[in-house]
This record gives sequence, C-alpha cells and structure tokens, in this order.
Amino acid sequence: MRTPFRRGTPGRLRAGALLLGATLLAGVGLTACGSSSDGDSDADKAAPSASASFAPGTTMARLHDAGKITVGTKFDQNLFGLKNLSGKPEGFDVEITKIITDALGIPRDKVNFVETVSANREPFIQQGRVDMVVATYTINDKRKKVVDFAGPYYVAGQSIMVAKNNTDITGKDSLAGKKVCSVSGSTPAENIRTVAPKADLVLFDGYAKCADALKNGQVDAVTTDNVILLGLIDKDPDAFKLVGGTFTKEPYGIGIRKGDTAFRTFINDTLEAAYSDGRWAKAFKDTVGKVEPTTPTPPPVDRYTS
Ligand code: GLU
Repeated sequence: MRTPFRRGTPGRLRAGALLLGATLLAGVGLTACGSSSDGDSDADKAAPSASASFAPGTTMARLHDAGKITVGTKFDQNLFGLKNLSGKPEGFDVEITKIITDALGIPRDKVNFVETVSANREPFIQQGRVDMVVATYTINDKRKKVVDFAGPYYVAGQSIMVAKNNTDITGKDSLAGKKVCSVSGSTPAENIRTVAPKADLVLFDGYAKCADALKNGQVDAVTTDNVILLGLIDKDPDAFKLVGGTFTKEPYGIGIRKGDTAFRTFINDTLEAAYSDGRWAKAFKDTVGKVEPTTPTPPPVDRYTS
C-alpha cells in the first residue's frame, strides 16, 4: 500500500497506512456480518433496499423492476474509476454508484459499468446508452442544457502536473509556449485555453495517456482536476508532482437524462442519506482517502430548477 503524498513525513505515512489498514480490516469485519457496502465479494448479495417500491412510471420503478442498470464511469482513473485485475472498475465514483444502486434495490452483480470518456458522457446519456454517468463529471451550465445532474457529491479543482524534476513550470502562469496535455470534452481542456492562452494544448481521450506523454517528454505538463492528477501521481510517485495549487471549482455530479426530475430528486435524497449515515465518508476514505487523509465535509446537493 502506498501513500506517496506524505513525502517527507514518514511517521504520518506509516500512521496513515496503519489507519487505512485498520479501516480495511473494519470493512472486512462488516462484510463478514453481511452489512458492508463495498468490495468485490458482495456481487451476489441482496442490495439493502431490495424491497423498495417506487411510483409506477418513474425511472426508479423501471430500473428496480428490471433489476439491472447501466452506468457510465471512467476505466482509467485511479481513485475514481479504474479497472482492477478482474476487469471491474474501482474507486470513489464506483462507490457512489453502489450507494445509488443499492437504494434502487438493484443487486451489485447487476450493475453494468460501461466506460465513458470525458467527451462521450453527454451523448451516452442522451442516447440512453447509460442510465446515469458517475465519472468525475463537472456540473456546469453548458452541460445542463443537454443533461441533468444530481449532486454535487464532491468538489475538485483544476491543477497542473509536471515531471518531478521540472523547475520552470510553477503553475498556470508559466505555461506560455509549453505543451500542455488534457482531455477532449473536459472542462480543464476548455478552461486552460482562457487561463493560459499561449500554452500549446495537446488533447487525448484519457488522462492516463497524458501521463504517458509527460513521462516520455512529449508534453511539458498535464492539466485536469487535482484529485485525478493525484491518482496519476499515486501510480507513479517518482515521476510527477503537482504545482501551483487549484484554480477552478469542479463540482462532481451524477449525469442523468435531461428533465428526469423525479430521478434527480431520488439521487439527491440518496446522497443526503449517505452524507448523514456515514456511507459517503466511508466511500471517500476507502478510495480518495488513500491520497487525501482528511475526509472533507460533503458539499450540499444542488436541487436546481431549470
Ligand atoms: N471534471 C472535469 C470534467 O468533467 C475533468 C475530469 C474529466 O474529464 O472527467 O470535464
């Protein structure tokens, strides 16, 4: 187990690892009692709200009656949605998904995760290829024109990652003439055009590819949400570092079909319940907590009217 962000504080690193170990053990204990809400071992377990009933005609009733759901998430983002060796995605977005699908009474092994990259999230929702998207998906007005969002369930911020030995890039203001990698269809790729108009933007379809390009020296920096970059550093702590702090707010929402207010309200209610009973905090600690030992206060959900 690695907790590379505690560099220079080995005592805290060990304490963090021990704490995380204790948390994992506690989780195993709960699983043995049949009441845990995470892990791979729970595939066939009945979901907690299997007896839930929903008003006829709602998306909740349709999904509950079908007993299955298709969810778009990232497959290449450590800490949020990363395929494990058995081919299942793991991370905070996956745990948030389980909280929602449990409330719908859908068994864990009937949650079909499909990969959504940054650029195809809105089309996948619009075309009905997924029932919802939980994929480090920033809520913004442009996207709200074509999809709706429950949440936010987390607020990230855009930052910059460079090679660990880089000394000339110190943040967004030193990117002029530099090759900066981001991902098509993402908010950081849009935003960097305004924030650093003289940067030379290189776009891929996933951040892991940007990390490879940075490692190969094809680009000078990678920009996206801080926690996504922390996930890349976690995988390669000797190669990369963050510079310059954060300079945007990226509230992560759950994307659903536009106009499905009842489903949005249901997800918001479910998130609020998970905020108050500790499931949200556990999901965070088990995933992002690996690099961010302080569990934040969850953001208030935004029950906007469109
Ligand atoms: N949160 C940002 C977005 O939704 C960046 C992360 C991503 O591309 O998934 O565009």
